[in-house]
Amino acid sequence: MKTLFIDQTVDKVGQEVKLYGWVDSIRNHKKIIFLDLRDRSGVVQVVGDEKLTNISTEDVVYIKGLVKKRPDKLVNPKIKTGTVEVEIKDFKILGKSKTPPMPINTAGYEIDEEIRQKYRYLDLRRRRLTNNIVIRSQFIQFIREFLFAKKFIEIETPILTESTPEGARDFLVPSRLQPGNFYALPQSPQQYKQLLMVAGFERYFQIARCFRDEDPRADRAYGEFTQLDMEMSFVQREDVMAITEALMIDVFEKMEAKIQKKPFPVFTYEEAMKKFGADKFDLRTEDEKKQNIQAFAWVVDFPFFEKTPEGGWTFTHNPFSAAKPEFKEQLLKKENIGEILTTQYDLVCNGYEVGGGSIRSHEANVLETVFEIMGYSKEQIREQFGHMLEAFSYGAPPHGGIAPGIDRLLTCLTGEKSLREVIPFPMTAGGKTAVMNAPSAARPKQLKELGIKINK
Ligand code: ASP
Repeated sequence: MKTLFIDQTVDKVGQEVKLYGWVDSIRNHKKIIFLDLRDRSGVVQVVGDEKLTNISTEDVVYIKGLVKKRPDKLVNPKIKTGTVEVEIKDFKILGKSKTPPMPINTAGYEIDEEIRQKYRYLDLRRRRLTNNIVIRSQFIQFIREFLFAKKFIEIETPILTESTPEGARDFLVPSRLQPGNFYALPQSPQQYKQLLMVAGFERYFQIARCFRDEDPRADRAYGEFTQLDMEMSFVQREDVMAITEALMIDVFEKMEAKIQKKPFPVFTYEEAMKKFGADKFDLRTEDEKKQNIQAFAWVVDFPFFEKTPEGGWTFTHNPFSAAKPEFKEQLLKKENIGEILTTQYDLVCNGYEVGGGSIRSHEANVLETVFEIMGYSKEQIREQFGHMLEAFSYGAPPHGGIAPGIDRLLTCLTGEKSLREVIPFPMTAGGKTAVMNAPSAARPKQLKELGIKINK
């Protein structure tokens, strides 16, 4: 096994080391050849002679060499290993590379998106993207550490499941064992996390993959995204906001980000609309944007319902939310529906909505009333949400949660514009998977087993 990462060579002056990595660049001065050897951790300069001539960039090589201090004049302050170089003693090519279809030692923004996604495994080699993926891993590790210390436990919920209303279109998966029936991929683990509260786990989180078949939009990742899904029992709105805020501050500061205002400013929906004309807004000055300062804020007191084009009512955020306590009676009486405010809280950062959640209706009759207001018949409610109403009839704790979006938070942290820059294998804007060719046609035998006829 490889025992030394390239960034560790700085501590090995005077020692012989064994390095493994990719040839990032070659500078051929005839008798002396310089290589930059790259791995996940960085690059180091390697010095050799003519024997290196059959090496090309992106080859995978093993190098044995002596780590030497560079003379002061030749120190490269731009790289972590800039004070050293490795004098080659022996080398071996472990994997030859064809000429890559795009440059790899640039930031890559200028390269056509299709090419970057088709060769994503090469795209990910560029320093910027490698760093983004390493940052993603550290970020999630810090989240886990914070939550475990606060007595949360991590629980997985099903991916093949039933449709749950989050306001987007579902991805459906046909069932072979029950032809004509379909699973839906979760738009969020909303109902399962609430059921985990009924089950008594009290504090749950999950780095959850969610699936929404929404029309591609510039500020959304098409298809799937990752959220930090959380749910807690015996909490009020302020508790969930406080723990989320403490988590964001802890994790962002561990990642060396600067936060504009602590505690985060709180705006009511009405104030936000008056002040910014929107419920997400960027509080940073131009100068703060350049410094990539993080400007978090909360938005609260949203209307629970909004009118549908047909003149009925639908939820603005989440049908499982509870109304603010002072509106509970009004909701149960179905009076002045447009005035009812929900316990929903949205977290905003740098102009984006980076998460949202609410305290939930944990009483069956209240939840039932919400669906009645939205025009569901008793039968429809029983059929689609009967399991929740039943669960709530066996001692459901008051509970609430939130789901900050990991991908979006990472674009804020890294200063990237596109979600695709922080997702290892994102889909293209047209909904095609990176590298692999999905969606693709199913084989006739598969369709037959599923009882499906393609009609196009
Ligand atoms: N289920 C919500 C969402 O995915 C978040 C929540 O209310 O916890 O946006």
